[in-house]
Amino acid sequence: MVVGLLTLLTIGKISSPRFFAFYLKQIEVGGLGVRQVRTQLIRSFDDAWSKGAFWSVVVGASTAGALSYLISKRIVQPLIQMEEITKKFAAGHLEERLPPNEIPEVDQLADSFNRMAATLEGIEQRRRELVSDLTHELRTPLTVLKGYLEGLADGTIEPSSDIYERLSRETTRMQRLVNDLQELSKMEAGYLPIDARPIDLHPLLSSIVRRFADQLLTENSPQMQLDFSPELPRVMADPERVEQILVNLISNALRYTAQGSVTVKAYTEADKVWIAVIDTGTGIAEDDLPHVFERFWRVDRSRDRHSGGTGIGLAICRRLAELLGGTIEVESQLGQGSQFRFSLPVVREKTTLRLDGKRG
Ligand code: ADP
Repeated sequence: MVVGLLTLLTIGKISSPRFFAFYLKQIEVGGLGVRQVRTQLIRSFDDAWSKGAFWSVVVGASTAGALSYLISKRIVQPLIQMEEITKKFAAGHLEERLPPNEIPEVDQLADSFNRMAATLEGIEQRRRELVSDLTHELRTPLTVLKGYLEGLADGTIEPSSDIYERLSRETTRMQRLVNDLQELSKMEAGYLPIDARPIDLHPLLSSIVRRFADQLLTENSPQMQLDFSPELPRVMADPERVEQILVNLISNALRYTAQGSVTVKAYTEADKVWIAVIDTGTGIAEDDLPHVFERFWRVDRSRDRHSGGTGIGLAICRRLAELLGGTIEVESQLGQGSQFRFSLPVVREKTTLRLDGKRG
């Protein structure tokens, strides 16, 4: 605005009187006698021009200034608000949100900000829950261990194989929790090596299924089954990581299936091989399904605490499936059973897998 006004004034001041004088001369050439009043005319014109220019500058500058102020206020206001809210966020008030704004771009920014705020709030909530869960999970086995060890030390408890088994069970539970957490943090930090190579799934799947079937000794236990299509192509994967995913999924399926069957099924679809673990167990409610792969999430917290669940298993599975270049999905119906399936890339000519899991 300032540059515009200065240009207008400078050029107007220099050129207008010259033009005016030029036109007067033309009028004189046409026969009209303005020679006597010429100087006065030019001075009057100059005077009129200066007054006009002055008022133009005053009105133009104040209107433009007022408009600029109002518009920038409309833009700056939500930004200041955002700054205040981020400060409150940093101070731990994660429930703060930005109101909608009539400027589409600012509204979009507010929307993204709110989404980020909601995610952060969720993470923070889960972190708090994790700390309280971990404390609880560790306190129970530690109390039991301490009680038994003190009893054994002062002779009030007779050492027996049963006691040692109990002690060992509690230690295993703690070990699992610590291992799960370590594994997940390693994966999230990107430290987990993936040694992908072309593998034949049949021997791997049948050995895992056999191992689980051997542990199901009671009559009421669910049946372990393998449904394997004979023409299955080789896949590009790290067998140890595939086993890790499967052990997690089958352990879950067996934990939540009192009767019926747990089937491991492998089949091809386009350029992928899917490995599915299908159970006839408790199933998962539709509302809970989007959360099952989240860290530390469990359908029924009190029930799973006793069954030893940490809510980390499926988060590990998802990360592993992604590192292997695939995806993991779940379908489930409450009371009917669940199906967890993950995909692996089929071996193609000249396909290589880099250490970070991305196909090159
Ligand atoms: P956890 O160590 O608690 O099993 P996961 O991450 O493996 O943790 O599973 C998260 C939650 O998903 C479990 O606590 C359970 O409520 C639910 N879930 C997982 N697999 C199944 C299944 N096959 N059937 C029913 N619920 C399941």
